[in-house]
Amino acid sequence: MELLRIGVSRNFRIYLNHSRQMHLLKDKAFVNNEWVSARSNAVFPVLNPADDSVITNVPDMDASDAKNAIQVAADTFKTWQDVTAKERSIILRRWYDLCEQNKDSLAEIITAESGKPLSEAAGEVTYGSSFLSWFSECARHLNGEVIPSPWPNKQIILTRQPLGVVSIITPWNFPFAMITRKVGALMAAGCTCVIKPSEDTPLTALAAVELAEKAGVPKGVINVVTCSRKNAPAVGSVLCEDNHVKCISFTGSTVVGKILYQQAAKGIKRVSLELGGNAPFIVFPSADIQNAVEQAMLAKFRNNGQACVGANRFFIHEDVYDKFIALFKEHISKGCVLGRGNQKGVSCGPLINNEQAKKVSGLVDDAVKKGARKIMGGEFDTTLGNKFYKSTILTDVTPEMNIFREEIFGPVAQIFKIKSEEEVVKLANDTNGGLAAYVFTKDLGQAFRMSRKLEFGMVAINDGILSTAEAAFGGIKESGIGREGSLHGAQEYTDIKYTLMSALDK
Ligand code: ADP
Repeated sequence: MELLRIGVSRNFRIYLNHSRQMHLLKDKAFVNNEWVSARSNAVFPVLNPADDSVITNVPDMDASDAKNAIQVAADTFKTWQDVTAKERSIILRRWYDLCEQNKDSLAEIITAESGKPLSEAAGEVTYGSSFLSWFSECARHLNGEVIPSPWPNKQIILTRQPLGVVSIITPWNFPFAMITRKVGALMAAGCTCVIKPSEDTPLTALAAVELAEKAGVPKGVINVVTCSRKNAPAVGSVLCEDNHVKCISFTGSTVVGKILYQQAAKGIKRVSLELGGNAPFIVFPSADIQNAVEQAMLAKFRNNGQACVGANRFFIHEDVYDKFIALFKEHISKGCVLGRGNQKGVSCGPLINNEQAKKVSGLVDDAVKKGARKIMGGEFDTTLGNKFYKSTILTDVTPEMNIFREEIFGPVAQIFKIKSEEEVVKLANDTNGGLAAYVFTKDLGQAFRMSRKLEFGMVAINDGILSTAEAAFGGIKESGIGREGSLHGAQEYTDIKYTLMSALDK
């Protein structure tokens, strides 16, 4: 800091900034507290989605590397399971502290490899770290039960036992929080793990475990196996099928979730699946429209629409339809600033990769071909690069268009005009997804009815953001199995053991 103030050259300042911020950048995988290469020595590049430049190369590990990491996690479980809940709690808390202290460095890495704006990346670190502090507290509250027995000389005791080795496969859209939400919970329960981060964003995972190691997480408790998309199926099947693995925790697409569920079934393994959503965002006439639009901005454009809880289908009552669209358009024009995530003032970054860019533009083009109307956006800003899609509003969408059923995962709001509560419940539930739903109304009875009738794991009334460490996050239908966050999130990684204490009268 002192150097900066007394006026060093610009290049040196950039160097100082770079080295200060990117000091958590790693180019090796992490097994048994060692930074390791793939056995084959293969590597793959991690790209910055803003311009496809290579940030660094990381090991392209294969099935044999995954097996080795699982063995390490299994050996470590033998001792880690006996570490007291109090000690595990203290370690998690130290990890939380270090993540908070290194927020800027973590955010810089998240922005570099995921493209999201720096302010959102810092927000993700705050959100992700909160799971570590929450589970640090939960660790000491995974209580058992003593149940009155039907026999005078026997006692029934239920205790919670850690499952063992957990395999974790994570996506690129929240590369930090999707790891802390799982690892915080499983560590609180006394499990060990092997993480396979997304090939698009392995650097955040490596930075996070660097801090875990500094926080005193014992060697072998957390292991990270990096691999390219090409090796993901082979590594994934070892992570699901190896005998040492007792649970697979996955966040990602429903397509891949189904593959992993089948593989886990072979060994009757516990699964925790957080898959795609197709969230309805419903606005009734009694709603505060200003609030509904402000929340719509968050529910739709956070992470540029690349979130499983992101609003996918807007259902606006005919009485407030024109007002909502006019206000939404105004907010998007002012609030959605497209550009590189590390540039000041940018609120929407590039889409993560070419496949995603093709998918988003393909869905819009299909809808327009079938009669949807573009109110704004609907194209790339090619002056910025090949993955910068403009914030888009589509109207006149029908359920026959692909965009109605598919998770868009991009900055596209499709808007339907609705006439009644009955009609919207039917339309909103007409999907295999069942993760989040958003409802705007001031009618209390309607709020309760909607919460009950909507077939989604989470319903937000008058809000566009509902995820927090304290609440149980998860879906129904094809959106997944299990809950993350809350005490339930830690309980997912335990089995209930029933011990019968008998002959107490002898
Ligand atoms: P997205 O479309 O958002 O990338 P995916 O479900 O394809 O979502 O990817 C989420 C995670 O699943 C990534 O870590 C990816 O490497 C991994 N993955 C993809 N295919 C497989 C597979 N067949 N087996 C195991 N993991 C996989």
